[in-house]
Amino acid sequence: MPEPSFIGVDLGGTKIYTALADHQGKILAEIKIPTEADGGVQHVLRRIGQTVEQVSAQAGAGVRPARLGIGAPGPTDSARGIVHQAPNLGWREVPLKELLEEALGLPVTVANDGNLAALGECLYGAGQGVADLIYVTVSTGIGGGFIFDGKLYAGASFAAAEIGHMTVDPDGPLCNCGNRGCLEAVASGSAMARRARELAEAGGGQRIIRAAGGKDKISALSVSRAAATGDREALAILAETGKWLGLGLANLINLLNPALILLGGGAMQAGKPLWEAMEREIKERALQASRQQVRLAPAGLGPRSGLLGAIALAIQSSAPGDRIISIS
Ligand SMILES: [Zn+2]
Repeated sequence: MPEPSFIGVDLGGTKIYTALADHQGKILAEIKIPTEADGGVQHVLRRIGQTVEQVSAQAGAGVRPARLGIGAPGPTDSARGIVHQAPNLGWREVPLKELLEEALGLPVTVANDGNLAALGECLYGAGQGVADLIYVTVSTGIGGGFIFDGKLYAGASFAAAEIGHMTVDPDGPLCNCGNRGCLEAVASGSAMARRARELAEAGGGQRIIRAAGGKDKISALSVSRAAATGDREALAILAETGKWLGLGLANLINLLNPALILLGGGAMQAGKPLWEAMEREIKERALQASRQQVRLAPAGLGPRSGLLGAIALAIQSSAPGDRIISIS
């Protein structure tokens, strides 16, 4: 009898990232395709189905996955299998577990993507052997997951660790969630791009505009590119973004006393000035007892944190006793 295999899916606003793995989480086949969220729920479900077929075919004849784990970008009820809200997909109250089980004929477990990325890092990445850690992803938005005492902390209604929506500036810019001054609105890749656009509107940011290839193409990446050439305005944007990020993390450190904070996501690649400003702010604001304990490090699995977390979810959900989301 062949070893069972498992499917993990990292469902994002822009891409569907699917892999087939063995029972130890070793990836045997993987594929990444655009989500095409504009096509609606059924369209996205069909695309997920396509990726499952493709990785199964790649892995070889006779491979029959035992279960699928999937991470969704928003608060997701793991017990009922419902995605409450996923703004980047335009989803509300989507019964993802039921719909996928119907479409694929396979048992499915769903969870929040940031939580799964924390689980992935904890089991297979830079968080191995650490019982109390926080995973933070900084890209277009800011998300994350908490591992406490060796277990994923999902909260009373699976909505914990919405790190990006901590209010850090009551009069700050508007956030996607409708509030003002969320961490995501001042410390994400989108916030970096917004600062650069404002600068360009005011007649500045010439080197950023050049790095972007035009005023209307400014992104977080063009800011970090200009910063890498020593551009003073771009460096100032990185410093400001890093300072806000450090403020948010200092709050988490004071509140939760983690041993490790792992930072992932595209915006964390922006460069040293961002990290330095972040660390300076943490040093200034976090209380000594927690500050001395905590280590900050880049996430270890790169773009695969969420994917490997989804695989771990599938594996653990299949285990006797259904010990969902535990690292021990
Ligand atoms: Zn918000």
